[in-house]
Amino acid sequence: MAFQVFDSLTKEKRIFEPLEPGVVRMYNCGPTVYGRVHVGNLRTFLFADTLRRWLEVLGYEVRQVMNITDVGHLLDDADAGEDKIEAQARRERRDPWEISRGFTELFLADVRALGLREPRVRPKASEHVPEMLAMIEGLIAKGFAYQVGGDVYYEVAKFPRYGRLSGNTVAELEAGARIEVRAEKRHPADFALWKSDPGHIMKWPSRFGPDGFPGWHIECSAMAQKHLGDVLDLHTGGEDNVFPHHECEIAQSEAFTGKPFARYWMHSKFLQVDGGKMSKSLGNVWNLDDVRARGFSTRVLRFALIRGHYRGPLNFTWGILEEARSALEKLDELCADVRAAARGERAAAADQAGQEAVALARERFDAGMNDDLNVPQALASLFELRGALRATGLGREAAAEGLRFLAHAQAALGVLLLEEATLDVRMQALLAARGDARTRKDWAASDRIRDEIAALGVVLQDTPTGVVWRKKE
Ligand code: AMP
Ligand code: ZN
Repeated sequence: MAFQVFDSLTKEKRIFEPLEPGVVRMYNCGPTVYGRVHVGNLRTFLFADTLRRWLEVLGYEVRQVMNITDVGHLLDDADAGEDKIEAQARRERRDPWEISRGFTELFLADVRALGLREPRVRPKASEHVPEMLAMIEGLIAKGFAYQVGGDVYYEVAKFPRYGRLSGNTVAELEAGARIEVRAEKRHPADFALWKSDPGHIMKWPSRFGPDGFPGWHIECSAMAQKHLGDVLDLHTGGEDNVFPHHECEIAQSEAFTGKPFARYWMHSKFLQVDGGKMSKSLGNVWNLDDVRARGFSTRVLRFALIRGHYRGPLNFTWGILEEARSALEKLDELCADVRAAARGERAAAADQAGQEAVALARERFDAGMNDDLNVPQALASLFELRGALRATGLGREAAAEGLRFLAHAQAALGVLLLEEATLDVRMQALLAARGDARTRKDWAASDRIRDEIAALGVVLQDTPTGVVWRKKE
């Protein structure tokens, strides 16, 4: 069964085949660090993480690169407006470098708390300016870019494939009035590769002038090429990245290298609020701390954001977190059931029926994930397995198979409580032994067990219904 992905460029599902067998070169557009990432951004980054995890489950070595945009992303995503980071710095009366450093740290803490795997490289735009300038020079030399004063523009009319990704062709852009016409541009859709502005704080000297900074699109083209080479296997982002960002990246990279830029483009749908945009002005922007303050764990948020299909709409409400929490409880029960069966605590009904149920679940899980990361379909197999096991029980052999399947599902999804389930088994035994020792008034043994429990990073708490344990934070 081959892995198929929906390619936003060809607009069809295609069997995924990387250029080099066994290796996947993947570039994910990362955050613009002028504010705390919101749950919508997190949906997009979790999609990239799920993709990476599934490729790893399939046995690929994934060279994942996710950038940090710390300069040059203007307020309107194209050539106009202030730099988002400098605008924020001005509002906060702080240094823009301090703003980008601070929000980068918060971003890293958030994605780590959500269990995202660490990309191989997290390049910062501000640390790749020489590579960007080299690409800009190359584009000028090849006739795709032109200089006007201290600015350099890409000439879209020179790149006939412009518009293939987004449908925004040069002719249509000319007709539409959406793009502000700047007098110095040869075509309204031409976009800035380099801008000069003495008022900009984050700036670099170049032959175009002393006070320049890069355009947002050239940043990703240059960082992708530096860390992954001319041809990427996968390039991802949220749906708003399609235009202008990715359309412009294709134009730049392909004009520069003469090769196709990315073999597959994947975009996730926006997370919405009340059917509309999540935006600061509407006061409906939630971040990880807001979610925690409402009493939801990061695991519940992770689950809520990945359990729908990445190309399907998702409306954020506190209700979807409630639903995710109760659905997760069912998955936790499944893990606990399989563990109990593996310990032989549950009467083994027909081992064969259990084995068949596990094999079927695994087949369905893989079929779902291989079908363009259909997580809801993959999850359905876990819920079905839970039902089947409750009906038939599991023999030890089948339970061992079941544990292997759960570990496989966990590698892809990152939400199951497998380690905790193992710990629980251990803790039940230790607590029973501690109870025995106390009954025997064997204080030395009881102390030894107490130390052993502490070494597991667990704290005990006496409650009216007995001793409960939890992992120390
Ligand atoms: P930015 O920090 O604005 O560059 O955005 C970082 C990533 O989050 C980009 O890939 C965006 O496409 C994505 N993104 C922004 N808003 C949302 C949203 N409401 N839902 C999902 N993804 C989003
Ligand atoms: Zn990008």
